[in-house]
Amino acid sequence: MPELPEVETTRRGIAPHLLGRRVTRLIVRDARLRWPIPEDLGIQIENQTFTAVRRRAKYLLLDIGGGTLISHLGMSGSLRLVPADTPVLKHEHVDIELDSGMTLRYTDPRRFGAMLWQPAGAEHPLLSHLGPEPLSDEFTGERLYQLSRKRSMAVKPFIMDNAVVVGVGNIYATEALFAAGIDPRREAGRISRARYLALAEEIRKVLARAIDSGGTTLRDFIGGDGKPGYFQQELFVYGRAGQLCKLCGTTLSECRLGQRSSVFCRHCQS
Ligand SMILES: [Zn+2]
Repeated sequence: MPELPEVETTRRGIAPHLLGRRVTRLIVRDARLRWPIPEDLGIQIENQTFTAVRRRAKYLLLDIGGGTLISHLGMSGSLRLVPADTPVLKHEHVDIELDSGMTLRYTDPRRFGAMLWQPAGAEHPLLSHLGPEPLSDEFTGERLYQLSRKRSMAVKPFIMDNAVVVGVGNIYATEALFAAGIDPRREAGRISRARYLALAEEIRKVLARAIDSGGTTLRDFIGGDGKPGYFQQELFVYGRAGQLCKLCGTTLSECRLGQRSSVFCRHCQS
């Protein structure tokens, strides 16, 4: 599933090819994504020029004409640029043809993604209740500490709550808690300020590192056949249940928290 770093990598990959480019045609082959693609989307973007390519949480925000095209990659979506005459394959649901001769092509086998329209000046309900960006100054350990007081839920689902901070998916929550030495099962409201300061730092680091490693894949957004921009960084615990901790050699444990699998080291995390 594309996580925040992949979405940011997508943004960086497609932005140079969209900015200042005019949309010549929108082709929707299948409008049935998580929500139907609005019928008037073509009217909104055809003959208009992209002026900004932004990101908020895992939403791509493409400013064009009198508003913003909001795109979400869902579970399996991807965006890449192809020459306009590139044959269309299965699951390639949307083409945005540009005056450069390139096409921004949206592929999504599971169709949990989204392509929506937001007129300028309005705030889409999907965006209105989101917490701060993890790499922004608004996200701090102090914020985690304050919001967690009197919360009895486990710390892992707490930091994965989009109202607390956006973009901390299962991989990054698992890895950041390991790096900070915090047991993912600990009650959020019982963790000290000092430990939250350390955890916020680790969340920033793990996401920044993932975004950096995505930078090496930027060329994959042009042409090609594959899925652009998905990458692996070195993982210490995520997906490694039953294997040995890379720091201490203890066999890694697994539990379920908030319906998600969580791997941790009983020795390194408390
Ligand atoms: Zn360990």
